[in-house]
Amino acid sequence: MLMPARIRLFTLRASSLLPSSSSPSPFSLSFRTSISHSHSAPSHHVSATKTPKISISDTAKFVRTVLFIPPGTDPEEVTDDMILPGSNVVLGPYAGDAKVKEVQFIGSSIRPKDCPKDDRPEFAMLGRSNVGKSSLINSLVRKKEVALTSKKPGKTQLINHFLVNRSWYLVDLPGYGFANAPESARMDWSSFTKGYFLNRESLVSVLLLVDASVPPQKIDIDCANWLGRNNIPMTIVFTKCDKVKNSKGKRPDENIKNFQEVIKENYKIHPPWIMTSSATGLGRDELLLHMSQLRNYWDN
Ligand code: GDP
Repeated sequence: MLMPARIRLFTLRASSLLPSSSSPSPFSLSFRTSISHSHSAPSHHVSATKTPKISISDTAKFVRTVLFIPPGTDPEEVTDDMILPGSNVVLGPYAGDAKVKEVQFIGSSIRPKDCPKDDRPEFAMLGRSNVGKSSLINSLVRKKEVALTSKKPGKTQLINHFLVNRSWYLVDLPGYGFANAPESARMDWSSFTKGYFLNRESLVSVLLLVDASVPPQKIDIDCANWLGRNNIPMTIVFTKCDKVKNSKGKRPDENIKNFQEVIKENYKIHPPWIMTSSATGLGRDELLLHMSQLRNYWDN
């Protein structure tokens, strides 16, 4: 039987990349014994569409100092060009096969125990209402109609399973924190979704969507902290990174840095994070590549 991915995937502090670091070698957290080194690095198949180049500010550079080093990658051998732009994710030998060729809507589940019963790897997308989850799902699968799920406040909240390339699931979880919903219609996130996270063996990673155009919000911090405390593997997907700051607000990269500083106490090892924009396509291919390396490792 496969070990749950949450036990097997690690992030490591890439101390070797920090100019003035004298931290101990991250190799003491070795996961390499369980990894076959016979893999040659696959080519990174991404969709032909180019994502715009982003400029990485000093703030973003600072945040990149805590890297996500995937299994099969020697932290000592990480070079700058192995880091996915706009993220802290290092691309390792398991990356590849990131194209979305086919998507099927499999069904909606009312309860976690009604979810499809097979062991294909899955990624669960979670975030505050209005964070841009439907837009991101549509951008990932390049189909406008896919994420037209019941997202209106007060409607029954469902877990929607989409099967991608007949091999892995993208799961649309109910949004939390509907600002305008009556109290009775607010989702009881704790009982509804926590069961899913804690019991879903095939969950490779939660994709926690966080709006980068606003300062860190308590509800998102609570969610990230809960996932951290429960050792649920998580990738933070920052959305709306195309939005420039308004007169009072901070820039997306400043919000991103602040969010991570707030949550870091709940993480022994820092989670992977990535900047995206469904409006410009920023981060789309990078996110798919990151998911491919988690998935391919999980599959092995
Ligand atoms: P959901 O409630 O999380 O599914 O959010 P939606 O995908 O419906 O998006 C909520 C609002 O944010 C809509 O008005 C979108 O047009 C807008 N939005 C979503 N993604 C982006 C983005 O990347 N950039 C910008 N500027 N707006 C976005």
